[in-house]
Amino acid sequence: MTPLQGGCLCGAIRYSVDAAISELRACHCTDCQKVTGAGGTVNALVAAKDFRITQGTPNRFTKKADSGRILHRYFCGDCGVSLYSQREITPERVVLRAGTIENAPPMTLTAHIWTKSKRPWSHIDPAASQTPGSPD
Ligand SMILES: [Zn+2]
Ligand SMILES: [Zn+2]
Repeated sequence: MTPLQGGCLCGAIRYSVDAAISELRACHCTDCQKVTGAGGTVNALVAAKDFRITQGTPNRFTKKADSGRILHRYFCGDCGVSLYSQREITPERVVLRAGTIENAPPMTLTAHIWTKSKRPWSHIDPAASQTPGSPD
C-alpha cells in the first residue's frame, strides 16, 4: 500500500504511516475540545511501529487526562497544529489526528468516546459505538 502522509499547517512537521487504518475514533473529552477549539478530535489509532516523523520535531505537552492517565500531546511549535497523542502507559499506540492525514482513504467513524462531555452541537453517528467516558 501507499504510505499515508500528513503533517501540520505550516509544513514544519511531516509524518508517514505504513499501515492501513482500521479504527477511527471521535473523542469528545474537554481537553480535546480545547485543543481543537471545537467539539473534540477525530483520531486514527495507529501502531507506533508503523508511524514515522519524516520531518521536524514536534513539541510535547503533557497533562493528566480526564481519565486520570498521563497523556502526551504532540503539536507543531510553529503553527500550533495538534498532530497526535500517546498515553504514557501505552507508548506502542499513536492516536493520530485524522484531519492531518492528507491522502486518507475513505474512512468511517467506528467509535465515539467521552460522549458524556460532548457539546450539544456535536454530531454522533448512530452507527458507531458510544462510550460515556474513557475506553479501555
Ligand atoms: Zn506547523
Ligand atoms: Zn480527548
